Amino acid sequence: MNPKRILVVGAGHVGLYAALRLSKKLSSREAEVIVVDPQPHMTYQPFLPEAAAGNISPRHSVVPLRRELRRCKVVAGTVTRVEHDRKVATVQPIVGPAREIAYDHVIVAPGSVSRTLPIPGLHEQGIGFKTIGEAIYLRNHVLDRLDVAAVTPDPEVRRSALTFTFVGGGYAGIEALAEMEDMARDALRYYPELEPEDMRWVLVEATNRVLPEVDRDMGAYTVQQLLKRNMDIRLDTRLESCVDGVVKLSDGDSFRSDTIVWTAGVKPSPMLDATDFPRDERRRVTCIPTLQVVDGDQVIEGAWSAGDCAAVPDLTKEPGNFCSPSAQHAVRQAARMADNIAAVIRGREPVNYKHKHAGSVASLGLHKGVAQVYGIKMTGWPAWFMHRTYHMSRIPSFNRKVRVVVDWSLAFFLKREVVALGQLHDPREEFVEASQPVGAPRV
Ligand SMILES: Cc1cc2nc3c(=O)[nH]c(=O)nc-3n(C[C@H](O)[C@H](O)[C@H](O)COP(=O)(O)OP(=O)(O)OC[C@H]3O[C@@H](n4cnc5c(N)ncnc54)[C@H](O)[C@@H]3O)c2cc1C
Repeated sequence: MNPKRILVVGAGHVGLYAALRLSKKLSSREAEVIVVDPQPHMTYQPFLPEAAAGNISPRHSVVPLRRELRRCKVVAGTVTRVEHDRKVATVQPIVGPAREIAYDHVIVAPGSVSRTLPIPGLHEQGIGFKTIGEAIYLRNHVLDRLDVAAVTPDPEVRRSALTFTFVGGGYAGIEALAEMEDMARDALRYYPELEPEDMRWVLVEATNRVLPEVDRDMGAYTVQQLLKRNMDIRLDTRLESCVDGVVKLSDGDSFRSDTIVWTAGVKPSPMLDATDFPRDERRRVTCIPTLQVVDGDQVIEGAWSAGDCAAVPDLTKEPGNFCSPSAQHAVRQAARMADNIAAVIRGREPVNYKHKHAGSVASLGLHKGVAQVYGIKMTGWPAWFMHRTYHMSRIPSFNRKVRVVVDWSLAFFLKREVVALGQLHDPREEFVEASQPVGAPRV
């Protein structure tokens, strides 16, 4: 028997876990696993806020693909098209011409991208919070704004530098806001020119609550905690424009802000538009609970999907409900999917995915948090501790777990680093200046 070729599109929570499991379960005579992703690593997104806050090294909140997936073939590139009719994907490697890869089974797991709205100025001024690059840029930018505010004689410039606006109050937005504020407050001890009251941290949320993943009382607790930290929480409010950094809100308020972070939800990866997979009205790939792609009642043989880009029925709820886009579902779906693919290759029946969402844990800065897990509600230090232990247990590989724990321990004993490395974003600037030919006009 020729080994079956399994092509994995995207090595995130779904892709990495599924590929790892498949390569352990199936022998090389049974299957060959090819993983395509433009990034050389999987990003453990729940750690992005802590990486941005400097509690974890950015390198330790990602998982290197080649190190973990030694029994798979890793291709550094982007899948630009999938023609499942022909069972062929087009891959654009990071260098060189595009090429086609034929497969027997495909795992469609490109995840999601920020869901934005056509708000004037957002495209030019905003930044998302989904990648390690964005998280580290934001960290450097926030610390850089403190430096600007400390040195400028202009009160307008200072106010704008010290105003940080976050749009969207889901867990990504709340964690990013709370962790960044906590870090900036910590950093202020080294800035005698600035007082904590000089900073303005604004959360803009279109609905009347935050953290929709937990009960209302936990959302209300979170708002109270943020208010106690002098944050400006605007519920039932929308961002209307932010042209040239002037934030205009639907409640009529307007102010300058050098920092506008967009965390108002996600939508399935647009790469799905270049595939022939059936999709629902939210543009997710339609799946049945076995994680096979389905067109109406028709199972599409050899096509599998899960995670943020897939509409997977939630069997723990009434019919018509789908699993939420979360790491919690993504990694469990990946395991079930890998087992199902192995079963199908061996001539057995796939099994349904069923997992009751356990709840959510969110960090609100060092030693602060909120958690609701299996109905048990926790706040403050215990919730924060639970957040850390849960995610530490979840990040793939023993190697990463050890590194993350070491990072936390160092930050505990030596205090976290609060230095901006903004030069990282334009590393050639100094060399370009120094290597300018004599007499050449300066650019
Ligand atoms: C800041 C933040 C905090 C979060 N915290 C939590 C939390 O506490 N708990 C929780 O349960 N969930 C959390 N989530 C959500 C969770 O991270 C996502 O639901 C999960 O990552 C989805 O997994 P995925 O595999 O579908 O997508 P991803 O993990 O995003 O992986 C998608 C992969 O596909 C690759 N890709 C994209 N396009 C292509 C292409 N064309 N070709 C090849 N590869 C491609 C990408 O590079 C990426 O590696 C958080 C998310 C964020 C942003």
